[in-house]
Amino acid sequence: EREDLLKLRHQKDETVDGRIVPIYANIGNLDDLNSVLYYEAAGIGLLRSEFQYLGRENYPSEEELFAAYKRVAQTMGKKRAVIRTVDLGADKQAKYLKIPEEINPIMGNRGIRLCLDRREMFKVQLRAIYRASAYGRLALMYPMIDSMEEMDAIEQILAEVRAELDEKRQPYQEIPKAIMIETPAAVMISEELAKRVDFLSLGTNDLTQYTLAMDRQNPLLRNKYNDHHPAVLKMIQMVVDAGHKNGRKVYICGEIAADTKLTHTFIQMGVDGLSVVPACILPVRRAVRNTDLTEGKD
Ligand code: PEP
Ligand code: MG
Repeated sequence: EREDLLKLRHQKDETVDGRIVPIYANIGNLDDLNSVLYYEAAGIGLLRSEFQYLGRENYPSEEELFAAYKRVAQTMGKKRAVIRTVDLGADKQAKYLKIPEEINPIMGNRGIRLCLDRREMFKVQLRAIYRASAYGRLALMYPMIDSMEEMDAIEQILAEVRAELDEKRQPYQEIPKAIMIETPAAVMISEELAKRVDFLSLGTNDLTQYTLAMDRQNPLLRNKYNDHHPAVLKMIQMVVDAGHKNGRKVYICGEIAADTKLTHTFIQMGVDGLSVVPACILPVRRAVRNTDLTEGKD
């Protein structure tokens, strides 16, 4: 079985009827880079950048961040690596961040909200990503977006970051931008959001918990938490349609992307690619390669 699976390493992410559905990797640290290469993922669809901020005593420096992103860019070569800007707060805490205690941290000052509050922290990371963009094919992705005002604020900050790099004559490339769709609000305004960036990626882990109003980490809800809920699937379809209407690709990077029972459904919905943990790349590739959308039609 494992041998058969390993044969898929060099195979294309292509359905029986010839549709290409690239499979990207989700990674949470640089050690995962080896398996991304080994399984021949199409690229990195989600780099959870929190690993550089957690389990330490102070903010990471721009140089430290830059070194990591540069390594990612160089390692991936021509393949795209999507770096998600840091998604702190809620369950991702560190003392030095001094995030005040919240009654509802899951609905709290997390993700992009925290970054927009802590502009300097955000700018340090953006400068590091822009600088590293000179070494490969990076893209930027924002977590937990739920309004157009957040996009305005981000664009303002990006303009400042570019001006600072220009002033220091530091080389960078203009990189593609993406929004994670992981709140019901983002789903409802996904058409407008799609116009502001180059592609969208569905963060179905958070999207499910916010849609069902169920904490994804609450053990008491484990049997009730249903990430195949029709409401979630319907939202995925809405976002795919909103993206395509505006010429934008739509990916899924939540854990549901690795669920091979849904691969056929996702492809039928028009999902443009799936991003999964390295261990799931080959099983999902096999599911894509077994998918035939012409089946049952004549
Ligand atoms: C998600 O919410 O689906 C997601 C991919 O982000 P994270 O799991 O890191 O919150
Ligand atoms: Mg999320």
